[in-house]
Amino acid sequence: MSETLFEQIIAREIPADIVYETDTTLAFRDINPRASTHVLVVPKTRYRNVAELAEADAGLLADVLNTAAKVAELEGVADKGYRVVFNTGEDAGQTVFHVHAHVLGGGPLGPEARG
Ligand code: 5GP
Repeated sequence: MSETLFEQIIAREIPADIVYETDTTLAFRDINPRASTHVLVVPKTRYRNVAELAEADAGLLADVLNTAAKVAELEGVADKGYRVVFNTGEDAGQTVFHVHAHVLGGGPLGPEARG
């Protein structure tokens, strides 16, 4: 079995509502959405957080951000605006230690749309 929840989703060991995929990234809907669009983007290689990813593989971080932008387009929120959030560490509320970008949009975003 894979180690973290998101590795299990990447390996198709548990189901997720996948909205977009590339060779290096996967995008799927958050199970507990805090905005009408709330999609998580993960690299298929695991790093614990965005700082580790940035230091180890800037190209893969760019892939994550490009996938986030593509998801915003597919969801129809790219023009009006959206939020990309990387919760990093306990105080930020990070609960899954496989780096992921929250893509939030679909109407004016309040503080609840924090990812
Ligand atoms: P974090 O709090 O680490 O920034 O974000 C983790 C996110 O994963 C949360 O927004 C949470 O709702 C989401 N999540 C937790 N378990 C699952 C799951 O089994 N499937 C999906 N699609 N999302 C999940």
